[in-house]
Formats: sequence, structure tokens, C-alpha cells
Amino acid sequence: MKETLYHRFTGYDELTDLLSGSDEDALAALDHKPALICITGSEGQGRARFVSCLLHGNEDSGYRAVLDMLRRKDTYPFDLWVFIGNVRAACQEGWFAHRYQDDQEDFNRVWGLGHPTTRMRRCADAVLAELGTISGLEAAVDLHNNTGDNPPYAVLPVWSDACLGLAALCADTAMVWGLKANALMEVLSDRCPVVAVECGMIGLASSTAFAMGVLERFLAADLRGLRTSPERPLFIWEMNHRVTVRPEVSFGFGGMLSDCVDLVLAPGLDATNFGLLPRGTIIGHAHCGAAMPLMAMSMQGQDDTERCFALQDDGSIVVSRDLTPAMMTTTVAQARRDCLFYLARRRA
Ligand SMILES: [Zn+2]
Repeated sequence: MKETLYHRFTGYDELTDLLSGSDEDALAALDHKPALICITGSEGQGRARFVSCLLHGNEDSGYRAVLDMLRRKDTYPFDLWVFIGNVRAACQEGWFAHRYQDDQEDFNRVWGLGHPTTRMRRCADAVLAELGTISGLEAAVDLHNNTGDNPPYAVLPVWSDACLGLAALCADTAMVWGLKANALMEVLSDRCPVVAVECGMIGLASSTAFAMGVLERFLAADLRGLRTSPERPLFIWEMNHRVTVRPEVSFGFGGMLSDCVDLVLAPGLDATNFGLLPRGTIIGHAHCGAAMPLMAMSMQGQDDTERCFALQDDGSIVVSRDLTPAMMTTTVAQARRDCLFYLARRRA
């Protein structure tokens, strides 16, 4: 029997039941499965746009904005395709509690892998195959949230006039994504201009409002000139290091060192995201005599920890040169599942 990897809806009539209750009711109705939705455009075939959300089950803003958009039942001159990702993680142990489940992979790391051993990977492959049948895909946005305090920003998988123009439509700040991580936007970037948009912190009404604004601009804009767009976001950054806590180290944000806590990170550092951590800033404490618990790896895989951080005799960990952190998180789970933060530099 062929398995159903994701729900498939075409047109608003098929969405009536799904959209009749709350955002959470809709999640429950999806019964742990992702959904791919197509709203046919008013001008026939040949033009399409794509929006995805909830690839991370704890990131609610894009999902709420997408449902708000669908409830309006607007029709566009292009086919609108929508993907709702990790419904299962979003429904477990409360609403929007998990980026992904312990027995799952990260849903934004499984695209184009070509080795579909798991249900999630088969789903990603099947969605990509279906998206591959769309003609005239003009652009795509993938909506996310941060777990730490960041200004909203667009993430560019490739440096191109089209992606920069699309990023400028979405946010004032942009980050050039240096990872090769099998993210959805990386794979789609072969087909059309695409950006991921980090809409601010999880669970805030202001983040959902930002996501709604992104969708409104994305759906209203004439994107046909995007490939030669002169538009640029005001602030463009590129990530040059990924900072993690060594896996064997137990840690927390704030609090005290103890027999079972090896590292205490200074709370509130996420307020410096896309700002400055000046040289000498203390960002945490380890036990005296312990080795450096942080790692800073360049995008090329080089260990640059010693160039970025220093461990002082009293166990304090200081920034050894002026650094700009980005995407710094405030939760242990997120730091384990992605990273503690990235280091960014301005790009001209
Ligand atoms: Zn995300």
C-alpha cells in the first residue's frame, strides 16, 4: 500500500474544515502529517510562488501567518503553493514545544539528500518531486523564528541579485548562509530566487505580525524583474563561524557552576545579536582548571576557537577580539540541536 507522507489540498474548498477552528485545531486536524496546499491562480498555469512554514515545529509565527493568509481566501495571478512542515513536533507535549522530536531529524536538514531511509526524508523527496512539476516558479520564502532575541532578517542561500532583491522585500537585515546543510532553501535556490526569513522570537504576537507583513509583500510584489533587481537589504552579513558547546559539557544560561554544571553562560547575551561583543567581554564561566568548553569552527571546517575566545585563570571565558554574534539562542535544547550562535561579519 502506498503510504501517505503528507496531506494534499487543492483550493479553498478542500481547506474549509481545516481552517474553521483555531491554529492549534488545524494542527490537530493534520494528525501529525505535513501538508502541501495549492491555491490555483486566476491567470492560469505558468506562474507560481511557494511559501513554507513550520519546518521547525516550535516556530509558530510563519504557520500562524500562513493560516491567516489562507483564511482570507484571496486568489492571486499565480498559483500559490504552501508547505506546512513538522506538524508532529508542533503537536507533541504542548503546542510548538519542539524543533523536532527525539526520534526525528531536523526537517530543514533533509532536503535533496538522495538517501530516503526515513519517513521524513521520503516526505521531503516527494514534496520536492511535486514542486518539480510546477512551471514558472517565480520565488519562494521559508518562514522561521529564532529562539533568541534577533532583529528579523532574511537568510540568503546564494549571493545573487534575485535573492538580494527578494531579501530586501522581506527584511532590512540579511545573512548570507554559508552552510551546506540540506536546507529546503538551498535546494530550491537551483530553481528560483529564495530566502528563509527569521521573523523574530518564537511565540510573540510581534513576530507573527512581521511574518504576516512578509507574506503580504511577497504576494503583492511584481517579482518578474527580480533577476536584475538593484534592491539590497540595508545590512548584509555573512556567517564565518559556528560556535557550539562541546558535546560532553553540561551547561546552562545563568545560575551557578556545580558538580553537574560545567559551564555557565552569561544570560542576556542574545541582546547583542547582530551587534557587538567587544574584546574582553565575559560570556561565561567554567571551573578553574577545566579546558575551553566552547568551539568556534569556520565555515570551511577550521577550528578557530583560540582566535575567538580565551579561558582565563579564574575560569572566565572572554571574547578575545571584537565579535558580532548572530542567532544566539537562550535554550540548552536549541544550542544542542543547532548551535549556540554564529559569528558574522558585514559584507559590502
Ligand atoms: Zn527554523
